[in-house]
Amino acid sequence: MDMYKGKVLVTGGSGFVGKRLKAHRPEWVYVSSSDVDLTNYHETVTFLRLHKPNAVVHLAARVGGIKDNANHPADFFSQNAKINTNIVDACFEARVPRLLASLSTCAFPDVVKEYPFREEDFLDGPPASTNLAYGYTKRLLWVHIKSMREQHGVNYSCFSPSNLYGPEDNFDLETSHFVAAAIRKLQEATDSVEFWGTGRPKRQQLFVDDLCRAIPLLLDNYTGVEPVIVAPDENLSISEMGDLIKAIINPKASISYNGNLEGQHRKDGSNKLFKSLFPDFVFTKFSDGVKETYEWYEKSISNRD
Ligand code: NAP
Repeated sequence: MDMYKGKVLVTGGSGFVGKRLKAHRPEWVYVSSSDVDLTNYHETVTFLRLHKPNAVVHLAARVGGIKDNANHPADFFSQNAKINTNIVDACFEARVPRLLASLSTCAFPDVVKEYPFREEDFLDGPPASTNLAYGYTKRLLWVHIKSMREQHGVNYSCFSPSNLYGPEDNFDLETSHFVAAAIRKLQEATDSVEFWGTGRPKRQQLFVDDLCRAIPLLLDNYTGVEPVIVAPDENLSISEMGDLIKAIINPKASISYNGNLEGQHRKDGSNKLFKSLFPDFVFTKFSDGVKETYEWYEKSISNRD
């Protein structure tokens, strides 16, 4: 349907999600920090006034894995609080009629009474200490959007993807998330690999192309205030995922867990609202997504050599 065709501006266009989204929606305009520094309000509003988009899909953020978040919490807070506040205020000032912004299921409470958590649980307890700063900046973004809707009646909405993986992911071992790190470690291993934590925490891993199919649907059809959760049905433990990745990439390798930097044990979110909006949407099976990601990774390293 593409209601906003040709006039959609995507922040974070040079990032993991942005690059993949471009393959799905090449007609949209993709911007990075070299086009506009979103931590600078004047630059942001001037840029939007100049380009006059009909809609902004806001993906830009300082994003990282558990280690990066642990080492740089102040940077995560300060940069993301500025980026998120600026984009909402600048969209309003530049009269952009539609904003769809990315939160994350990482911003949901560390502990909830009942799993999977739902959109109404969003502020019901602090996020995990391992991403407290990042999580709170996503909450600021949602509260800001909710307040703008109430005060000004604007058509701004948010969505909350679960952990993502897929082609174009960050494979740097210092800053990557679990699936990319596991693929790289297993691809490079001659005999054994070590992973963080105990392997027991469970995670919903969303294939990035699933999110890139979901974003245009949400942009055109979702005008609600709830931070709609975009997450697959599969909720596998880190060790189950490690074994599946190993079977695909390096079946002879052995995996050990070092017990350090253990993440939340559960953080599964309910995709009930999302499925009620898009009942025909089918999520990619984890093992299929890993195969596609691994094919992409192998090609990207052979192109580099
Ligand atoms: P990413 O690969 O780290 O990309 C971040 C993007 O933000 C880049 O395009 C970067 O531009 C841009 N950016 C950073 N600081 C900026 C600034 N000051 N001004 C303008 N642009 C700036 O992130 P991603 O993984 O694609 O994440 C996209 C969105 O999905 C984020 O909102 C994130 O919170 C959300 N999310 C991600 C995951 C995940 O597992 N990756 C899970 C749930 C939600 P430069 O390249 O120029 O620096």
